[in-house]
Amino acid sequence: MTGVNIGILAVQGDVAENLTATRMAMDELGVEGVVTEVKNPDQISDLDGLIIPGGESTVIGTLSLVNGSLKKIKEKIASGIPVLGTCAGMILLSKKAKDRVVGDMEQPLLDYLDIKIERNTFGRQKDSFEADVALEKIGVPKFRGVFIRAPSVIDAGKDVEILSKFNEKIVAVKQGNIIGTSFHPELTADLSIHKYFVNLVQKKN
Ligand code: GLN
Repeated sequence: MTGVNIGILAVQGDVAENLTATRMAMDELGVEGVVTEVKNPDQISDLDGLIIPGGESTVIGTLSLVNGSLKKIKEKIASGIPVLGTCAGMILLSKKAKDRVVGDMEQPLLDYLDIKIERNTFGRQKDSFEADVALEKIGVPKFRGVFIRAPSVIDAGKDVEILSKFNEKIVAVKQGNIIGTSFHPELTADLSIHKYFVNLVQKKN
């Protein structure tokens, strides 16, 4: 196959929106390749990049654990492929997550990003909002962040770059080739973050 193979983990959550945003980002950049819905863990070994969408992190984590995807994704991350986790996706990538109201919880995580997450930092569904954020370090000075039951990062290890803060809360991070955002970049017309990710995948390839 020529070009890159970018997978969207298709367990639950906004898979279609990420598929479209990634496809459009690749087209605009002139990057050849495919965007695949990853439904079967056997697809993971062929990927050059992976997006873990937003949704419900406990559901995505539990189903991925049961079908064996979690283990395969961990191996893939160890091999260095770029991964973008948005909202629940960032939660899944983290080493530790607690809920703002419920407190510490046991949930299956990928245990990679050296961050501690507070789930639902900004409230529940009805408290969803949009706000401008800046991710200067990756060349995105202004981005419309869509926050839906969004988490924040309450602790970050020394290898973690803080990409963005909103109201003093950390809402985007990067550790090596792994990026996490509290908000949903696939739900705006602005493709900057998906383009940054596609470039990362292509460079790595
Ligand atoms: N609150 C959800 C969770 O904790 C994440 C919400 C989202 O992905 N939009 O899993």
